[in-house]
Amino acid sequence: MIRPGDPSSLLNADRRSAGLRRLRDAGATEVLVVGGGITGVGVALDAAARGMQVTLVERHDLAHGTSRWSSKLIHGGLRYLATGHVDVALESAKERHLLITKIAPHLIRALPTLIPNYGGVDPYVSYAGLVAGDVLRKLSGTKRDVLPRARFVNASTALKMCPALRPDGLKGGIVGWDGQVEDDARLVVAVARTAAAYGADILTHVDAISLGDGHATLRDEDGEFAITAEHIITCTGVWTQELNPEIALSPSRGTHLVVKSERLGNPTACMPVAIPGEFGRFVFAIPEPEGITYVGLTDLPTDSLQPDPPEPTADELAWLRERISAALAIPLREEDVIGTYSGLRPLVSDAHAKTADISRRHLIARQPNSVIAVTGGKLTTYRKMAEDAVDLISDRPCPTAGITLVGAPGDSRSRDRLTRRFGSEASLLKDAIDRDPALGELVEGTAALKVEVLWARQAEGALNSTEAADTRLRVTMVDDAAAAAQDAVKGVWDSI
Ligand SMILES: Cc1cc2nc3c(=O)[nH]c(=O)nc-3n(C[C@H](O)[C@H](O)[C@H](O)COP(=O)(O)OP(=O)(O)OC[C@H]3O[C@@H](n4cnc5c(N)ncnc54)[C@H](O)[C@@H]3O)c2cc1C
Repeated sequence: MIRPGDPSSLLNADRRSAGLRRLRDAGATEVLVVGGGITGVGVALDAAARGMQVTLVERHDLAHGTSRWSSKLIHGGLRYLATGHVDVALESAKERHLLITKIAPHLIRALPTLIPNYGGVDPYVSYAGLVAGDVLRKLSGTKRDVLPRARFVNASTALKMCPALRPDGLKGGIVGWDGQVEDDARLVVAVARTAAAYGADILTHVDAISLGDGHATLRDEDGEFAITAEHIITCTGVWTQELNPEIALSPSRGTHLVVKSERLGNPTACMPVAIPGEFGRFVFAIPEPEGITYVGLTDLPTDSLQPDPPEPTADELAWLRERISAALAIPLREEDVIGTYSGLRPLVSDAHAKTADISRRHLIARQPNSVIAVTGGKLTTYRKMAEDAVDLISDRPCPTAGITLVGAPGDSRSRDRLTRRFGSEASLLKDAIDRDPALGELVEGTAALKVEVLWARQAEGALNSTEAADTRLRVTMVDDAAAAAQDAVKGVWDSI
């Protein structure tokens, strides 16, 4: 277990400069990982924990890409059961088990899901699905005190859990359980810091320009430089084709609305609403801590990676409002939506479905130029993807199922913001507040404390106030308040 605040786990500007200097001087590394989303940091941790010398380069910030725009669910793969991919579903359930019980219990909690029952055949189909999910839970070893079994509830309990539901005709509901991560970008940062604790150099704002046959050309703020690497692994999500033109991806845009939870009666459960005519597809209202609920999500093929970050269309937003409103007493109006966000899924094209080395859901492929490309998959299965990839370059057994992330185990029952987000490291932030009480004040207009800005800078690799606000504190999710939150974080950043 990594001690809270262990110097080896701290990412900051000085650590980055030292890592870059080392890399430029040596002109070589053993494993070069390209991409600082969940897949890349997972691969960096795996390889470093197997004793390899690892350098990860990310051209923007950690979690710059898709990994900060997810639904923030650590899911047991129920959707894959519905499409008959039992192996993929079981893999998800096993990874969920490891994450929620061992690897990151401080960041991941159980989330109830309420499927409302308005009569007809549907409720029994949904119940059968949740019972099948329960079998996966058992097979993956998750105890009922971690994720309770599915059960029917009456209408009054259903309304207590999701008060905005349309009450007329509501007969009750079915409650199942899954995992929810406090924040996807924070998970990426926690894995990156854990990789650093095992000796990996995590270098943000370094772009991989070209790769192949053990050589790489990289670019940082001082210009281009060349290195050699025994192994090169790209984990570049929807940008995979830039460095691996032979890999075919079919990116798909997923969009969420951000709504005040009070508009939905402060739900305590995730609420899926079936999409008519599409088996196993739902729109979800997912309550988050601190008063916001995400309503998502769309699944629209797209062939453009611009703009970055992606933006939703008016049609998508209207479609989400219409779909979720089908289950609400008062339909969601345009003015109820206080923010939106979109991400691009790095879906592997069908062309690779048969040749995918590992599974239909993620692709690990060694290219003719020896570069190993890892893509597809999901947040939930990052550890397994990393294990499969590093197995190709190391004979040592994979240790990551037993490695707890920085901040674990923490106290998963606590609702206190610092404990929820920093786990066992919360005590360090509280000590800092004891020494300087001003750090315990809120960053103006946000739910974050000033001490979080300090920690983002000292320990979490934020190189400027924008990175602190966007991917550490996550205070820019509400569009109308984002600019003011950004300014407020900058004010704190400049003063510490
Ligand atoms: C809307 C949506 C909702 C989702 N919800 C869930 C969910 O609830 N649960 C779940 O398990 N999964 C979910 N997923 C899937 C999951 O988010 C993705 O599979 C995962 O985040 C992909 O991570 P990645 O690291 O492969 O890609 P990314 O996070 O995109 O990371 C790739 C990184 O590579 C960097 N990069 C690219 N090119 C270069 C280069 N040349 N040099 C250096 N760096 C480079 C990019 O800047 C980027 O940071 C969701 C996906 C979407 C789109």
